[in-house]
Amino acid sequence: MRILVAGGAGFIGSHLCDRLLKMNHQVTCLDNLKTGRLANLKEARESKRFRFLRKDVRQPVSLAVDYVFNLASYASPPAYQKWSLETLMTNALGGYQLLELARRQGAKYLFASTSEIYGDPLHHPQKETDWGNVNPVGPRACYDEAKRFGEALTTEYHRKHRLNVRIARIFNTYGPRLQKDDGRVLTNFITQAQRGRALTIYGHGRQTRSFCYVSDLVEGLLRAAFYPRTNGEIFNLGNTNEFTIQDVAELVAELTGKPLKTESRPMPVDDPRRRRPDISKAHRILRWAPKVPLREGLIRTLEGLK
Ligand code: UDP
Repeated sequence: MRILVAGGAGFIGSHLCDRLLKMNHQVTCLDNLKTGRLANLKEARESKRFRFLRKDVRQPVSLAVDYVFNLASYASPPAYQKWSLETLMTNALGGYQLLELARRQGAKYLFASTSEIYGDPLHHPQKETDWGNVNPVGPRACYDEAKRFGEALTTEYHRKHRLNVRIARIFNTYGPRLQKDDGRVLTNFITQAQRGRALTIYGHGRQTRSFCYVSDLVEGLLRAAFYPRTNGEIFNLGNTNEFTIQDVAELVAELTGKPLKTESRPMPVDDPRRRRPDISKAHRILRWAPKVPLREGLIRTLEGLK
């Protein structure tokens, strides 16, 4: 198949390109390299079936394709808040350009959405049928609402144009190729621990997250893309083991062999207090469940972030 991966030089996108190439597909990666990195594509660029296009997804794109994966967006809280307008427009205009491409080409489409669309969730764990509890004008709105718009746009192309689409709501994901300075909790804690500094805990550290190792996540994306009975569907993809941020700090200290030192910082505005996916739908339709426990995934990640 001829496959376009928009945002393919990013953390998850590049792992997806590698897997698609291993499956013998022809892969074009489109990325403006604002947060993506060519170094992530080292393995992919060794393949003759791989092509890299440096391009902004907000611009029209014409290409012969059978499948479009849309992973183009800023994704870490500090990045999307710094580039808030770009985040909004990348998901809105970029989503539009890629959906138009898929429509013209008769290609299938996968939109990479996020657990952030649930906001500070009213139900726990989060199910695909939940509508979310999002502040439309808060500091996270530029990402949350951009992704919610991306979902709505994808859904209308399905309804109005009968486009073959699916939405993957990606929960916190980690692994090699995360950028050390992206400001996410795991990368912050790992780099702080490796440098012998105090781990910065926002608030009391009682907020929770569930962390999915990247190979598990990519397997979920592939199944959501290629399994039958996925057209028009939404899937939560994430790990169901929930940790408090305090637990995470203790685990990172243990695995880096450093005594735990922490430093309290204010809780960011609108920071979701808890997050855990209900993945029973992905399990039922995709036969998917993550396999890599946090401890094991972190050991693999630590190697990559040295
Ligand atoms: N967090 C923290 N210290 C840090 C970075 C993040 O305590 O140095 C907390 C943050 O407040 C949030 C959780 O860790 O509750 C996960 O944050 P991250 O930025 O990784 O992603 P999010 O899940 O909020 O999108």
